[in-house]
Amino acid sequence: MKIANKTVSAERLVRDALEKAKHFADYNIFTFLNEEGAIARAREIDARIKKGEKVGRLAGVPYAMKENFLSPDGETTASAHILQGFTSPITATSIAKLEEEGAIMIGRTNMDAFAHGSSTENSYFGPTLNSHDKTRVAGGSSGGSAVAVALDIVEFATGTDTGGSIRQPASFNGIYGLKPTYGCISRYGVVAMASSTDCIGFFTKTPDDMDLLMSIASGQDSKDLTTLPDYYNNEEKNPNPQKIGIIKDFDNDSVDSEIRNALASKIDLLKTKGHEIIELEMPALKYALAAYYIIVPAEIASNLSRYDGIRYGFRSDDSKDLDTLYNNTRNEGFMPENKRRIMIGNFVLSSGFYDAYFLKAAKARTLIIKEYKNAFKKCDYILTPVAPNPAFKLGEKTGDPVAMYLEDVMSVPLNLAGVPGLTIPAGKTKNGLPIGLQLIGPRRSDKSLIKFSKELM
Ligand code: GLN
Repeated sequence: MKIANKTVSAERLVRDALEKAKHFADYNIFTFLNEEGAIARAREIDARIKKGEKVGRLAGVPYAMKENFLSPDGETTASAHILQGFTSPITATSIAKLEEEGAIMIGRTNMDAFAHGSSTENSYFGPTLNSHDKTRVAGGSSGGSAVAVALDIVEFATGTDTGGSIRQPASFNGIYGLKPTYGCISRYGVVAMASSTDCIGFFTKTPDDMDLLMSIASGQDSKDLTTLPDYYNNEEKNPNPQKIGIIKDFDNDSVDSEIRNALASKIDLLKTKGHEIIELEMPALKYALAAYYIIVPAEIASNLSRYDGIRYGFRSDDSKDLDTLYNNTRNEGFMPENKRRIMIGNFVLSSGFYDAYFLKAAKARTLIIKEYKNAFKKCDYILTPVAPNPAFKLGEKTGDPVAMYLEDVMSVPLNLAGVPGLTIPAGKTKNGLPIGLQLIGPRRSDKSLIKFSKELM
C-alpha cells in the first residue's frame, strides 16, 4: 500500500481517494465523505514528515469505514433510519489503533441496516452496486466497504462479519476479506449485531496489507472482555507443506459449476506445490444455517432493544405517550429485515419455545465447534467456496428472505465456531464476475492463514 513520505504527501493520497469516491458516486458506496476532516488530518501528517518526526505505519493511507463503527467523524447510523442524526462521542478501539498509525478515514460506507443481510439491499440509503457489474449486488452486509476497495478508491476498508459480511462481499468483488478468530480484534465501539459471533475485520487487495492491518488492530482490550490475549504477532508459523481439507458433505449440486471449477483448479495448484489434500466429513455443518438463524436473531433482539427513540438518533414525532413513542419510533425506524429478526429472536427466547429452539440451536453450535476441532486434528486448513454463487442480480432475492439466508450457508459455520476465514480471489466467471474461495484455519491461526493464502495466488 502507498504510504505518505517525503515524495508523496498524505494530502495528495487523500485528495486522490476523495476524487475517486466522487467519480464512482453512482455506485452508492459512501453515506458520508469526510472531506474536511481527512484533509486536515493529512496536513498534520505532512507537517510531521516535513519536520522529520516519526509517523505511523499507515501514515496518510486513505481508508473507508463501514458505517457501524463509532467515531465522532460523521454520523454512525449503521445505515438504519432509527440511528439517523446520531453522532458518536467515542471512537471504536480498532479505529483508534488504525488512526494512531496515521490511517485517514475518507468516508463511511453503506451496509445492510444493522448488518442484517447479504446484499446491502437492506440499507436505508438504497443498495450499493457491484464493482464488476452494476446490475448486480455488492454482497453484504459490508457491501460499500468491499466496493470501495475493489474500485481502488481506498487501500483498505473496515468491515464486520457476524455470518459472512466480510467474506461474501469480498468474494463478490474479487478482493481479500478476513474474518479473524472471534476475540482477535476488539468489538468496543462497533454497533452490536450478535455479540457471540460479531467479528471486526478488513478488506484489502493483498495478503501483506491484511497482515499489516491485523498486526496493528489485533490485541486485548479492557473495554471488550471477550478479546483474547495478544497472539497475532507472536503466532508460530506452520512449516510447509500443509494438509488441506476439503469438505465432502457440502452438497455440490447447490454450488455454481464455475465456483466448483475454481475450487478444483486451486486444489490442483496446491497439489503441484506439494501440499496434501484430504477429504473431511463434517456432517454437523448442515445444522449451521438453522442454528445461526436462531442464535443470531436472539442476540439481535436483545441488542436492538436499546433503540427506543429516547437515547439515540431518530424519534417519531406524533407520539402522545411513552408507549406510542417507543412503538412508532421502532416501527418507522427499523427496516423490515430488522423487524423480522427482532420477532424471530423474541419468539425463540420466549418461555414456551426456548427449549425447542434456542437450546437446541446452542447444542448444534457445540457440535459444530467440536467438528472443526476434530477437522483441524487431521488438516492444517480447509478450503471451501464462500457462497454458493457469484454476485446475483439486484432485486433477485429481496422478496424471499429464506433465499437470502441461504446465501450464508457456507459462511456462518465459521462464526458459530469462532474460527478465522479468509476470502481469496479465485478468478472470474465467463461473464466476468469475481469468484472467491475461503481458506479456514483453527482458532488463533490468523497470521499463518494469511501467509498461507499466498500459496493460492
Ligand atoms: N448475511 C448474514 C446475515 O444476514 C451475515 C450478516 C453479517 O455477517 N453481518 O445475518
